[in-house]
Amino acid sequence: MNLQPQASHFIDGQYVEDSAGRIIECNYPATGEVIAQVHSATPAVIHQALDSALRAQKQWAALAPVERGRVLRRAAEIIIARNRELSELETRDTGKPLQETLVADATSGAQALEFFGGIAPTINGEMMPLGADFAYTRREPLGVCVGIGAWNYPTQIACWKAAPALACGNAMVFKPSELTPLCALKLAEIFIEAGAPAGLFNVVQGYGDVGAALATDPRTAKVSLTGSVATGRKVYAAAADGVRHVTMELGGKSPLIIFEDADLDNAVSAAINANFYSSGQICSNGTRVFVHEAVQKAFIARVAERTARAVIGDPLDENTQIGPLISAAQRDKVLSYIEIGKAEGAQLVFGGAIPAGYDNGFYIEPTLFTGVTDEMRIAREEIFGPVLSVLSFKTEAEVIARANGTEFGLSAGVFTQDITRAHRTVAALEAGTCWINTYNLTPVEVPFGGVKHSGVGRENARAAIEHYTQIKSVYVAMSDVEAPF
Ligand code: NDP
Repeated sequence: MNLQPQASHFIDGQYVEDSAGRIIECNYPATGEVIAQVHSATPAVIHQALDSALRAQKQWAALAPVERGRVLRRAAEIIIARNRELSELETRDTGKPLQETLVADATSGAQALEFFGGIAPTINGEMMPLGADFAYTRREPLGVCVGIGAWNYPTQIACWKAAPALACGNAMVFKPSELTPLCALKLAEIFIEAGAPAGLFNVVQGYGDVGAALATDPRTAKVSLTGSVATGRKVYAAAADGVRHVTMELGGKSPLIIFEDADLDNAVSAAINANFYSSGQICSNGTRVFVHEAVQKAFIARVAERTARAVIGDPLDENTQIGPLISAAQRDKVLSYIEIGKAEGAQLVFGGAIPAGYDNGFYIEPTLFTGVTDEMRIAREEIFGPVLSVLSFKTEAEVIARANGTEFGLSAGVFTQDITRAHRTVAALEAGTCWINTYNLTPVEVPFGGVKHSGVGRENARAAIEHYTQIKSVYVAMSDVEAPF
């Protein structure tokens, strides 16, 4: 399998190489095989990318919004037409099962481009009557936006950042995670094919130091990061130095609350999706599953019974439901949390090991712990792997307090048939996105983002426009100017 791109970076409408940069090897997580090699961006490459974005942004912002929207919508159409090819690349880059990538990655990216392409012509200011005078606001682009991505959704993250940024008249320099360098390059090619000016969307490869150089450059007006809380703190601080705008989509340890009157089969399905989809490598996962004590036994039995049927295997086989994790380091981190859980006294009901015959790739069995308590590390720290922890509760007030007892606040889910309890509970939960009787659905029409340490700003929906524009107020006098002397 050789997926070597033409060159490491995509700048000013073309592939660019600078082999002086550190080598980044790209592995297929199912086998560990090296499938491509790119070079980390040198200062010269970073300079070239930011300069070309700066040039392209002026030209792009001068277009009529409907023309900008058309380019984004064309890019969406190209992605949809090439979904299989892009999904296979995503699977090879991340190890996520093709069964997932065919429906959740490029397609979700295309929806973001379609949505923001559609609303681009509606991004307006306001007019304020002031007696004889009046004022109006212009909603203007920020300039060059830097996007920095995590490795779990490389195409989706690039699109979720690029679509609103470009719709508002900005340009972007995007740095993928060094673990998944390939997908964003394809997006850069597609933008050019869709008619975007050269330099509007650039991709530079690199480790954290490249992200840091981009985030602190005077040409950068905004930084949008998807990553861990630890990285978020650093990037936020670096951006603050230049008083830059930020969007921070960070980690979580989200609660999924299952009341005693819940439809249990649906709750089990949601808990499975919320912990084992993408081998658990999803920021919004409901990894603290609070189950009312009256239904806990039945819930655990059903999760264990259904998880036993999960098909682990080659991610390129469309029957595979559970693929590997992204890297050996991530697998080892998750395995160490499983050991911590056991040592802390949680009961391992299912999984917990590398599946037999899969020690070449970075696989871990879907894992179920019960008897988890709030102070255990597996209930407090983001594991980012297929580890579902069941915590027992008795009352609504108790579970709300415990669900909120975390530094994170990305998401939360509630299962109940009682409509008033459902709304009362989500109103009390400290989370940016809540689901009632489902979990982890993130359509582009709905804002997505976190509270507390899980983030700042929102992606998707109209809300994202607020984070990629700035308002200029213009006061218009219609009569003579009065002065005291
Ligand atoms: P990291 O925080 O390790 O990295 C995120 C990105 O930031 C990478 O591209 C990384 O580069 C880069 N980076 C690292 N250090 C710096 C720095 N000092 N300045 C600028 N950029 C830097 O996250 P992971 O890639 O490990 O992704 C997993 C994390 O992402 C989880 O915590 C998860 O919850 C979160 N996440 C959040 C989502 C959300 O929307 N809220 C969605 C998906 C994931 P490199 O990798 O090359 O070091």
